[in-house]
Amino acid sequence: MRPVTLGPPPAEALAVLASGRMDDYPEKPVLRWLLGIFRNKCAYCESETDSPEREHYLPKGVGLWPEHEFDWQNLRLSCHGCNQIKEVMNGRSKDACRHPLDPCAAGFDPAIHLRAREVRGGMGLITLVGIDGAGKETVAPDGLDLNREVLASRRAERWRAYRDLRRQARELRAQLRARPALHGEARHARDLRQIAEALRKVRSDDGEFVGVFRLSRRR
Ligand SMILES: [Zn+2]
Repeated sequence: MRPVTLGPPPAEALAVLASGRMDDYPEKPVLRWLLGIFRNKCAYCESETDSPEREHYLPKGVGLWPEHEFDWQNLRLSCHGCNQIKEVMNGRSKDACRHPLDPCAAGFDPAIHLRAREVRGGMGLITLVGIDGAGKETVAPDGLDLNREVLASRRAERWRAYRDLRRQARELRAQLRARPALHGEARHARDLRQIAEALRKVRSDDGEFVGVFRLSRRR
């Protein structure tokens, strides 16, 4: 999970919200806006998703917070899995609702609540561990279940790819140091540039699970 600033909604949404004509709710512009803000990744688990969904942080079910249904500050981009888990809250009372960590909360710092740990002998499996009560509640199976198998294996896949890139970069640099003449060879320089660019993307906010990897002390 990484902190995200929502910023102003798209102009189309503002116009509809101002007019109060909710039948014209601008689904597509709002979803496009969310995709940009959350960089095509689920706000909660950070997986890239083919079927992004508009999700309400405060559940809008009967007796809950329906007044925030059209509040864009309450909108998050979510994968189907996290949205389904959050959906359960709609059937609960306000008191029984759990509030997972919110990446859009002011001053949100995931490192206060969560740590990522590589499982020994786990082929790159990264487990998220709650440090405080809010972190533990978020990670737990009845919270957002952030260690569910599909997520753990996708994180492991990305983590292995990242380590592979770093190894390739190290080897190429060592070769170039050992044989300085290679510096002049366009192919090696291009390979190194491509690897550096791929590494930059993995480490940037665009990278899938970048927040999780940043929480790992063994980067
Ligand atoms: Zn998710």
